[in-house]
Amino acid sequence: ALAEARVEYRVVTHTVPPRTRLDTIQLARELDAAIDREELVLHYQPKVHVRRQEITSAEALVRWRHPTRGLVMPNDFIPVAEECQLIDRMTLWTIRRAIADQRALATRGHDLRLFINIAGQLLADTAFVREACDLVGGSDAKLGFEITETSVIRDPASAIANLQIFADFGITIAIDDYGAGLSSLAYLKQLPARELKIDKLFVTQLTSSNRDPLIVRSTIDLAHALEMEVVAEGVETHAALALLTVMGCDMVQGFLISRPVVFDSLVQYLEDGRHRAPAPDPLAAFGGFA
Ligand code: C2E
Ligand code: MG
Ligand code: MG
Ligand code: MG
Repeated sequence: ALAEARVEYRVVTHTVPPRTRLDTIQLARELDAAIDREELVLHYQPKVHVRRQEITSAEALVRWRHPTRGLVMPNDFIPVAEECQLIDRMTLWTIRRAIADQRALATRGHDLRLFINIAGQLLADTAFVREACDLVGGSDAKLGFEITETSVIRDPASAIANLQIFADFGITIAIDDYGAGLSSLAYLKQLPARELKIDKLFVTQLTSSNRDPLIVRSTIDLAHALEMEVVAEGVETHAALALLTVMGCDMVQGFLISRPVVFDSLVQYLEDGRHRAPAPDPLAAFGGFA
C-alpha cells in the first residue's frame, strides 16, 4: 500500500458535504490497498465485427471484488480514483493485466485486440504516458485505448500529442461514448482514432424512437467519411442489430451478444460459442457462427 505521504487526497471541501468526504477518503484508502492486493478484476465484453461475423476485440471493464461490499462497479469507484490520484496506478495495473490476458488468448490462437478505458486526466499526465508506453512497448500485445471526446477538450494539444504517441506504439484509439459528451468536429478530425463508439444513449432506444436512427445513421456516415470504423454500444435487441447492420455499422457490442464476463468465460465463449451458465448464448444473436 502507498505510504500516507505519497497520497494526496484532493477533496474539494465546498462542493462535497462532510459525510461524503469521509466516505470518499475511506473508499480511496481501501482502493489504494486493493490495487496491491489484486482485488481488482477485469471483465471482458466482446465486440463483434458485423460483416465478418467474428469477435475481433473485447473491452476490459474493471470491477472491484471488495471483501465486504461485494462486487463494486466502476461508476462507484472510478470517480474516487480520479479525484484521489489513484487512477494512474489503477490504469497501469489494468494495462499489465490486459497485456497478460491478450498474450494468453494469442497463445490459445485467439487473435483479439483488448481495449482499455483511459480516463481523460491521464492524457495530460506525462509520467503515465511514459509508463504506459514502456509496458506496451515491452510486450507484443495488441491493445486499444478507449477515450471520450470530453477528455480531449480539457487540454486538446497535449491529449492529441499523447494519443499520437500511443498510436505510434501500435495502440488502436477508439472514441468512446460518442455523442453523449461535448462533441467537437474540429477535434474529431485531428484525433488519431480508428474507431468511433456511438454511445448507448442512441442505441438502446434505436427502434423505438424517431430521432435516434437518424442520429446513428449520420454518425456512421460521418465516421466512415473520416475513415473510422463504427462500433455501436448498448445493442440489446435483435431489431437494433438488424437496423445497425442495414446502416453499415461495422461492429456491435451489447447485452444481446454478451454481458461483460470474466476471462475464463471469454475463452469459453471463443472456444465453444457459449458462456458458462448463467450468461445467455452469445452467438444466438447471429444465429450461431460457422
Ligand atoms: P463504457 O466504457 O462506456 O462501458 C460501457 C458500459 O456499458 C459498461 O458498464 C457495460 O457493462 C455497459 N453495457 C454494455 N453493454 C450494454 C448494453 O447492451 N446495455 C446497457 N444498458 N449497458 C451496457 P460498466 O462496466 O459498469 O462501466 C461503466 C463505465 O466505467 C465505462 O463506460 C467506463 O467509462 C468506466 N470504466 C470501466 N472500466 C474502466 C477502467 O478500467 N478505467 C477507466 N478509466 N474507466 C473504466
Ligand atoms: Mg469504454
Ligand atoms: Mg462507452
Ligand atoms: Mg460510458
